[in-house]
Amino acid sequence: MQIRLLQGDITRQAVNAIVNAANTSLLGGGGVDGAIHRAGGPAILAACREIRSRQGGCPVGEAVFTTGGDLPCQYVIHTVGPRWKDGKSGEDELLASCYRNALLLAEKIGAKQVAFPNISTGIYGFPKERAAAIAIRTVNAHAGHLPETVIFVCFDADNYTIYQHLLS
Ligand code: ADP
Repeated sequence: MQIRLLQGDITRQAVNAIVNAANTSLLGGGGVDGAIHRAGGPAILAACREIRSRQGGCPVGEAVFTTGGDLPCQYVIHTVGPRWKDGKSGEDELLASCYRNALLLAEKIGAKQVAFPNISTGIYGFPKERAAAIAIRTVNAHAGHLPETVIFVCFDADNYTIYQHLLS
């Protein structure tokens, strides 16, 4: 597996699948979720509504996928990160589950390249360094399966610097 790092906007990534840091409602929100729905158009929300009517949203740590709509990617894998509380409420395991379940779904849909945002490190307040270590560890543990390429797309400079350091 090849791991790549870049700083930028995940909605611009022409890969098989991008991952969204969604919320349990799947109805969109702020941050990267808002950016993905804005750039991807109404087809993504329509697909999310269909999933909601089938299974009633997405639990924390799990993942579902939809079309990429108007985005340059084929699919969006929506996963729901944990909200940071005190670090003793299962946050680490739930964040690892997000990465693991998104990767398993990517494998299932045959996605060769997958781009991840820094799940939970925005509005949900997960400490960035701790989140990055979990992300990298969980992606490494999935090596040998699809996807062939994982791209960590950092939006903010803090995350980019942390990943640069941890991946070097
Ligand atoms: P969460 O609620 O999971 O914390 P946020 O969307 O608030 O989700 O933040 C998750 C990460 O996504 C943050 O590191 C934020 O800087 C980043 N982010 C925001 N917009 C974009 C974007 N367009 N592309 C990639 N990452 C983004």
